[in-house]
Amino acid sequence: MRPLKQSIVDDIVKECLETYSKLPKTGKPVENEWTVLSCVIQYDMNRNDYKVIALGTGSKCIGASKMSPNGNILNDSHAEIIARRGFLLYLYDNIEQCLQNKSSIFVLNSSMCTLKPNIDFVFYSSQLPCGDASIIPKVETLDDQVGDIICSSKRAAIGDVDDDYNCKKSKINDIHRTGAKCLENSVQDPKLPGKDYHLLGQVRTKPGRGDRTLSMSCSDKIARWIHSGIHGSLIDMLLLEPIYINHFIFGAEVPYCEESLKRAFFTRNITNTAKLNSVPCIYQSTLPFPHIRSEEAKKPAPSSIIWRSNGSFEVAVQGKKLGVTKKNENILGNYLSICKFNLFKKFQSILNENEEWKQRVCGSDQVENTPYNEMKRKSTRYIYRWNEVKESFFKIWTRKPDIFTFKVMS
Ligand SMILES: [Zn+2]
Repeated sequence: MRPLKQSIVDDIVKECLETYSKLPKTGKPVENEWTVLSCVIQYDMNRNDYKVIALGTGSKCIGASKMSPNGNILNDSHAEIIARRGFLLYLYDNIEQCLQNKSSIFVLNSSMCTLKPNIDFVFYSSQLPCGDASIIPKVETLDDQVGDIICSSKRAAIGDVDDDYNCKKSKINDIHRTGAKCLENSVQDPKLPGKDYHLLGQVRTKPGRGDRTLSMSCSDKIARWIHSGIHGSLIDMLLLEPIYINHFIFGAEVPYCEESLKRAFFTRNITNTAKLNSVPCIYQSTLPFPHIRSEEAKKPAPSSIIWRSNGSFEVAVQGKKLGVTKKNENILGNYLSICKFNLFKKFQSILNENEEWKQRVCGSDQVENTPYNEMKRKSTRYIYRWNEVKESFFKIWTRKPDIFTFKVMS
């Protein structure tokens, strides 16, 4: 993959930060709160043209007992996951436009959708993802918020050329920790003082308040997108080839370590044998997100923002639209646009627009009679690829109970 120039990396992040700053106040952190910002950006290499297509904020995740079998509540409201779900809606919109011969990022090839050449996707996040990538050696530098490897531009700014020597010299015997926990049936962190607190390269679940979450850490989910595609099992049935993110940008003034990112995304254990089609590039921007965790901002903001380039803006709290209560959470109009139910609804409506696809995916079965979990099981090519990655790269993964049996239009 041809890397982006640092100036383009910063221009892209500037665009993400500006998009965020123009959004309403609702859902943003208040005084002494912090959050994470993630965006998916479409980049046209030939024209050096980029636009933010999906944006998410947040750092909360609900426990296993709060999961809804109706697919209407978000289990995982970390910014990275929200931005990716918004991106899935963008892909659905473009698949639909391709079918209708309207302007689209896709063209039809062997009656499947395929990305137009020169279309590339960039993922931005204001800090490193929770889980393995966030286990970073602490260093004593000019700024103790900065992690192991200082980005090249910052190095240049402080006149630090012999970085290797300086980094080693200033490394102290401690690490930045992650709240994500090793899987229950796996080896556990030794939790020893200093740098031996965590095991490295482990698959982890997200921290949650009260009961344990079944959601994988963002390091694990992003590694999954890198190895099996970001589009997921349903969209896989409509595409000729998987969609990969080729560029990952992280924000400034947060703990950062390229080595930790590479371990989490590409290597994990020495024994791993997973092969990547193309290795994405990793960058650190010189621009910080204004609401990063800091001495002043100690509390995570409770809400998440979900914004898409079509203008859609929603605020979520505990996996539901802001203001939606236990009493009215099952009313269709109260569902978040990116919940499982609505993504599945979009998938079904596309199948119903194309007789050939409908036949290929569902055969003689009625689209509306196929529950969500069964539809996902029809994605055999995706499942085959994912099983390979699971066995060779991750070794283990969580098993969510098979509760998502909801139907959309029965
Ligand atoms: Zn996360």
